[in-house]
Amino acid sequence: MMAALIAASLFIRAAHLFDGTVERRDVVLEVEGDRIKSVGSQVPAGAKVIDFGPGFTVLPGLIDCHVHLSDRADHYDPIWAFKDTPMQHAFAAVVNARRTLEAGFTSVRDLGGPPFIARDLRESIDEGFVTGPRVVASGPGISITGGHGDSLNGYSPALSGLLYPHERGFQIADGVDQVRQTVRAQIKYGVDVIKIHASGGVLSRGDQPGAPQFTFEELKAAAEEAHKAGRRIAAHAHGAQSIKDAVLAGIDSIEHGSLIDDEGIRLMKEHHTWLVSDIYDDDYILAEGPRLGLEPAQLEKERKLGQKQRDNFAKAVKGGVRVAFGTDASVYPHGDNARQFFYMVKYGLTPMQSIRAATADAAELIDRARDVGTLVPGKYADLIAVAGNPLQDVRLLEKVSFVMKGGAVIKDAR
Ligand SMILES: [Zn+2]
Repeated sequence: MMAALIAASLFIRAAHLFDGTVERRDVVLEVEGDRIKSVGSQVPAGAKVIDFGPGFTVLPGLIDCHVHLSDRADHYDPIWAFKDTPMQHAFAAVVNARRTLEAGFTSVRDLGGPPFIARDLRESIDEGFVTGPRVVASGPGISITGGHGDSLNGYSPALSGLLYPHERGFQIADGVDQVRQTVRAQIKYGVDVIKIHASGGVLSRGDQPGAPQFTFEELKAAAEEAHKAGRRIAAHAHGAQSIKDAVLAGIDSIEHGSLIDDEGIRLMKEHHTWLVSDIYDDDYILAEGPRLGLEPAQLEKERKLGQKQRDNFAKAVKGGVRVAFGTDASVYPHGDNARQFFYMVKYGLTPMQSIRAATADAAELIDRARDVGTLVPGKYADLIAVAGNPLQDVRLLEKVSFVMKGGAVIKDAR
């Protein structure tokens, strides 16, 4: 159905364009099929053209490197682990995928959901059956027993036999051998990226964000298995020790990075490890968490961590750590992803750097730079337009007027 919308040859004229790396004026992109064929300055007579005058800025489709499309921001309460079925997660994923795409995010890295929903969503979207962004899919996040991903913490042990814990989006593995087996099994089922929980978390019960969970040896085994199979691996890591263990284990990106210390910053820079830090969602958790059923202990963890994470993000940026845009959408409603740009600028990036983090740089982290992230010949015609100049005011990205994915117009609200 979507194929019918793809024009054979189409020209995009942009008075103002940021191509993912540089800002340009009066550019014409030629789109053939689903890719950009050429970049020039002339539209041939009689050709089909979409014209963006000086009031607009054209940019590459945005990339969010940390989302959970099959989770809902209004289902925080642990009780949902017992109520939501895999089918309900699938319905949520379809709705959230469309919202995310319409917000201008044409690619996402999904870092965990029920097995193997992100992979299945990726397939349905690629077939054109479901409308959504390109998905780089992880399997369920891998967690230690009792760790950030163990939804049964604090419940009767009898429940462990009744409800397989990873149905809430996690898989439990303990010890080097189990970790290796789990990573291999996820690759067998077609994941693009491995997600592992190195440290404790905020929205889990009974653990502490600063506390290490997987050992260095376990993280190293996971990274080895992922890399052998040509996959990247992302580590959820709030605590300073877990961040260092993950970096030295060869993990490609640190998610959250809240309590990073100077040595961790030095190591991340040295090992070219990416930082994907969700510095918007603190606002949402504190404002909406109580109403949505977060427990006092979870809110207390967020209160202790939220500002520290933002301050440490600023330190890491100053220290030269590479940053990619990732928001943990699902903790706040899908579609509001672009709200994080403001905070990335407030805490140390220039507007252009923050947009690069969600375009050219994000594409590098998710290993899709051959296809997305910049507006150059050969890449997918994934692009957005916003009114005004987001290189001066990144908040303009919160209201995207136009979205094209693979040469097909998804939204045109000009
Ligand atoms: Zn997450």
